[in-house]
Amino acid sequence: MLYSGVGILALIIHLIINHDMLNTDPGKKIVPAYRSYVAVEIAVAIFYISDIFWGILYEQHLIPLVFADTAVYFIAMTASVLLWTWYVVDYLKEENFFGKALESTGVLLFGFEVVMVVLNFFYPVLYYFDEAGGYHTSWGRYVTLATQVVMMLMTGVYAFAAAAKTSGTMKSRHRTIGIFCLVMIGAIIGQILLPLFPVYSAGCTIGTCLLHSFVLENEKDEYREELEEKLRDSVLHGNYYDLLTGLPGLSYFLKLAEKKRDEIYDNGGSPVMLFMDLSGMKYYNQNHGFAAGDKLLKAFAGLIVPEFGEESCSRIAKDQFLAVTYEDGLEPRLRKMFDDWEKKAGPGCPAIRVGVYADRIGKVNSDTACDRAKVARDSIRNTFVSDIKWFDQEMLNRAEREQYIVSHFEEALEYKWIDVYYQPIVRSTNGRVCDEEALSRWNDPERGQLKPDEFIPFLEESKLIYKLDLYVLDEILLKDKRLKEAGLYIVPQSLNLSRADFESCDMVEEIRKRVDAAGLPHELLSIELTESIIGSDFDYIKTQIDRFSKLGFPVWMDDFGSGYSSLDVLANMHIDLVKIDMRFMQEFENGDRAKIVLTELVRMAISLGIDTVCEGVERKEQVEFLRDIGCAKMQGYYYTPPIPVEKILERYEKHIQIGFEDPAETAYYDAIGKINLYDLSMIAKEEENEFRHYFSTIPMAIIEVKGNQAKFTRTNQAYRDFMKRTFHINLADMVDAYGETEKGPGYAFAMMLRQCCKDGGRTVFDETMPDGSRVHSFMRRIAEDPVTGTTAAAVAVLAIDDAKEHDMGSADERQEKQDR
Ligand code: C2E
Ligand code: MG
Ligand code: MG
Repeated sequence: MLYSGVGILALIIHLIINHDMLNTDPGKKIVPAYRSYVAVEIAVAIFYISDIFWGILYEQHLIPLVFADTAVYFIAMTASVLLWTWYVVDYLKEENFFGKALESTGVLLFGFEVVMVVLNFFYPVLYYFDEAGGYHTSWGRYVTLATQVVMMLMTGVYAFAAAAKTSGTMKSRHRTIGIFCLVMIGAIIGQILLPLFPVYSAGCTIGTCLLHSFVLENEKDEYREELEEKLRDSVLHGNYYDLLTGLPGLSYFLKLAEKKRDEIYDNGGSPVMLFMDLSGMKYYNQNHGFAAGDKLLKAFAGLIVPEFGEESCSRIAKDQFLAVTYEDGLEPRLRKMFDDWEKKAGPGCPAIRVGVYADRIGKVNSDTACDRAKVARDSIRNTFVSDIKWFDQEMLNRAEREQYIVSHFEEALEYKWIDVYYQPIVRSTNGRVCDEEALSRWNDPERGQLKPDEFIPFLEESKLIYKLDLYVLDEILLKDKRLKEAGLYIVPQSLNLSRADFESCDMVEEIRKRVDAAGLPHELLSIELTESIIGSDFDYIKTQIDRFSKLGFPVWMDDFGSGYSSLDVLANMHIDLVKIDMRFMQEFENGDRAKIVLTELVRMAISLGIDTVCEGVERKEQVEFLRDIGCAKMQGYYYTPPIPVEKILERYEKHIQIGFEDPAETAYYDAIGKINLYDLSMIAKEEENEFRHYFSTIPMAIIEVKGNQAKFTRTNQAYRDFMKRTFHINLADMVDAYGETEKGPGYAFAMMLRQCCKDGGRTVFDETMPDGSRVHSFMRRIAEDPVTGTTAAAVAVLAIDDAKEHDMGSADERQEKQDR
């Protein structure tokens, strides 16, 4: 049983340590000479099994069976040796005569063994069993084992010889194979001497363990390391190189560019940095799909690599590429590249825009050179043909200013270099300040006062603007407190916001928190967003506007009509007020076109229930025109430029203030302001020089009534003409005065007006004029001032019938009142 026990143990160890090799899919082999090794292992396993059975059968005296099993034992043993030699030759890959001789000798030995086993069934050449069942060996067995010793010796020598030629882990592996052969030699000799002990199996197990630990596991470790290295490399490659084009990525390129620029200097040249991109890549992707877009980018990389060299170009993002090269002859090279690109990519392909920074402007590091090349490219952002733009002195000055602003901004906030100025917004109907806009001024200790356009764009680009806007808000809240303490009315303040504000923080929430902490009602802070912001990202901005509106902050659209107008924004977003861009006032003198557009804009806004402010109002005529067309509010130097809060208080002290509107009257004036006194539908049919006649179509007026007194608050040109022609009254001189109506012409009208204001509703009536003509008018009460008790009514002259055609009779007789 001891004999079989050793065999079982050997088999178990053998199967455990080799299970992965026996189970591995040959296609995934990681060990060299895998197949030969597995063949050896199978043969050895069969040998162990036959050896186990030999012990059991021999002890049980089952002689015929033990005889047959011994035959299998010899065949398996010799096959193992044959396969082992093959494995070693295969593994060592020594293509020499010795290897081939070894393989052939193995085959000869195996053939010899088969013959001997067959012969042994007839003659006891290998072994035999006596009458008592005792096992005896013959000369053939000794020959077999001796030959195996020789074979192992030869194989061992072969492995040691190979080890001598190698180094490192390879050497130790080859040596281990040699040692395996030595162990086996010892085991075979032991087996020769002790035929009834399982020495061969024990030796084979020790050898296999050695082989497994120092060859196979070692190989697996090496393979794992190799894989890890490959993985590391591919990650690193991804970090260093762009996966799509294979060009260096930005950070690696910057290192390479430094070297390249030094090399250019060493060669006596002057380096340039190029920032290239493809215009209209977005549309190309949309039209042709992303796969085609990627192909195009690869083709572009293929175009620039031969021109600048593989390690001198980079793809840094989407369709943006960098390259560093010699300045000499750059323009013709680029022009040729443009031509080649057109041929390569076909007509209608995205154009190439190149921004160039030349070191002769100033030697800077590669990082800055790239930034500057991009600045040059940005200046041709809207070009759709291939073009080149060099970074110039003006751009350098701007870059320098940007650098100054960004690096001093925190200091400016901390030391209050930034002042907030306020510009009043005046209501057309009462001439009082109904809102104020907060505008920043940077009082720089070195550079004097800077206007917003000298620092705001830089703060926007560097995403610092939110700090400024929240600072302005804090200043507004402090100012409101001061005005309140001074006993002045607090009118809504408007705060300008930039697109970048929303990228830096939750602006809506930040504003809400601050306003609530100050205890200011939300309707007293209006949010100004420029038309360009609103049009930039419709859905996102709409969400922010909705949030402001839900919280009760009025939202204003600034600079309306400045070039980004998208009328569907007005239709789809909750905008409380549009601020008409000052370019309309600048165009005011140049014919009537600006006036027509302005009139229609105001009309449209009124129809949508949106308030209007016109900015940049500088002259009286502009004020009158805006008042006529129903523009509710005005802002501009005509009233006052933006001023600091101290100046506001000083103006009150000196009694030269415009005066704030009483917030309790705001709704009343809102209602009066929103009536449009013009209907320009006729204008398109009129000749331009007849524009003023258009106003005579529907004479309209807003009249305020206080007790027995009335005042023409707003009138259009047609009404003024009508009053001048009929009553010889110049209404333009009467705007600010209330007056009693005397008995005589117009008295009946005054009575009707008083009645309408008292009772409300609408009235249509006829009145006979001093010249005998009959005037058909419409009248409606529109609002009541809760503070003064004043009531406002709108009046429109619907028709005037000539006196010659009709005998009108007296107005009093023919008036007709219709209350609805
Ligand atoms: P805006 O919001 O359209 O402000 C109106 C600009 O027109 C102001 O210029 C104002 O001084 C000027 N202005 C007012 N009345 C007249 C006039 O009758 N004639 C002329 N020619 N100009 C007039 P300012 O203060 O230089 O501001 C320029 C722009 O900078 C503002 O345009 C606003 O968009 C932005 N801005 C100003 N302060 C801030 C701020 O604190 N934050 C943000 N995000 N933007 C601000
Ligand atoms: Mg504004
Ligand atoms: Mg504006």
